[in-house]
Amino acid sequence: MNKFLEKIYPFLPGYMHNLFVTGFNLFAYHTRYSRNYRKYRKQFKDNENLSLKELNHIQFNKLMDLLKYSIKHSTFYNEIYKEINIESFTSIEDLHQLPIIDKQILRSNFSDIITISKSDANISKTGGTTGLALEIFEHKDDTRYGYGMLDNFRRKHGYELGKKTAWFSGKNLLTEKDVRNHIFWKTDWWYKVRYYSTFHIQDKYLEYYVKDLIKFRPEYLVGFPSTMNEIATFGLDRKIEFQEGIVKAIFPTAETFTNEMRNNIEAFFKTRAYNQYASSEGAPFIFECNEGNLHMELQSGVFEVLDDKNLPTQVGRLIVTSFTSYGTPLIRYEIGDEIKISDRICKCGNNNPLADEIYGRINDYIFSNETGKINLGNISNCLKGVHGITKFQVLQENADDILIKVVIDNNLYSSKDENIFIQNFRDRVGLHMGINLQYVNNISNVKSGKYRLVINNFNR
Ligand SMILES: [Zn+2]
Repeated sequence: MNKFLEKIYPFLPGYMHNLFVTGFNLFAYHTRYSRNYRKYRKQFKDNENLSLKELNHIQFNKLMDLLKYSIKHSTFYNEIYKEINIESFTSIEDLHQLPIIDKQILRSNFSDIITISKSDANISKTGGTTGLALEIFEHKDDTRYGYGMLDNFRRKHGYELGKKTAWFSGKNLLTEKDVRNHIFWKTDWWYKVRYYSTFHIQDKYLEYYVKDLIKFRPEYLVGFPSTMNEIATFGLDRKIEFQEGIVKAIFPTAETFTNEMRNNIEAFFKTRAYNQYASSEGAPFIFECNEGNLHMELQSGVFEVLDDKNLPTQVGRLIVTSFTSYGTPLIRYEIGDEIKISDRICKCGNNNPLADEIYGRINDYIFSNETGKINLGNISNCLKGVHGITKFQVLQENADDILIKVVIDNNLYSSKDENIFIQNFRDRVGLHMGINLQYVNNISNVKSGKYRLVINNFNR
């Protein structure tokens, strides 16, 4: 939404909001589903049962394409690969000759890494779940390739755009009046998508969510699993009956999907959930199949799992190379997640190798007496519209206030950014919680070596 619309949005009547949501989606979907999208989608459908050997072959060719392109179009990769003879590569293993890139390197070399201008890109503005501000330039064809893959995955479970869907994402589209009237959603009537607010998940409002979901009768649920979990748990605790056979499948995104969440969500909505992994940076995909196994999609990129000495291992740091990163090439990129891979073979017919588990930060949230639990996705979205914050971390010791440690880039950061950042938090924690900002030079990682966006020592 542009600035003008953002300003007038709260003063418009509700039906106008729904019109805006619809119009905004029509525009976004137009770029996403044009040009090569259909071709890609057909390709993934046709390739569904390729042998591992065939998949490895496609993967290697795609890797070589990405490497050659990046050397040609990215100043950064051209420079760091100067001494390496890419043409001599004969297998995926040769990738080990290339250096590993982390978020810090990506951020500080961004203008040399990108291969397209901002005006030609789809911008992915989210900070991800790690607290490091990143703005990824996505090539429009990358977006189509990615959605071709993602939609093929959802199609296997019956989903098509236009089927009635309940969406739980980080967009705050509600006005104070909506909240007073207990309306916690906006509807795109064209595509039959209802966007439920993930900012108002608290006991006193949950019954309105449950009631509306029963009334709306969505065939699919997509979005933050933490939000769906709160709704499902509320329904189960109060023995509210959600009719069987309404929801066909559930697709959790953007957050770690725990077994506990799965049990609650599947029990309440009486259907199956299919997990999926891909971060906001444009990482390659991992999709759950009918057998409940997680397949690492080799047509989307390369997955390496490394130990502390950068040697291949079964459980360790995930290093990704993404075939949907032509705008901002990600080659041997340390994404900040840990996974466990497996040698098992799945009998579903898909021969992409398996991941046993995707580890993530599970209990990371802030608790506000006013607004309830604020999950990691919503916390990391506080960077939206803010320039110059390179890292932040939220600490909570009690229900009354939070401390936010912030590392800034003095050249980019201004008091205006501070105001937006605080306002973004205010929108999430409510009016009464104290928000204390502390500017620091660095924020160190926790013992496991991982970065924690939230450290919550307060048990409500
Ligand atoms: Zn399978």
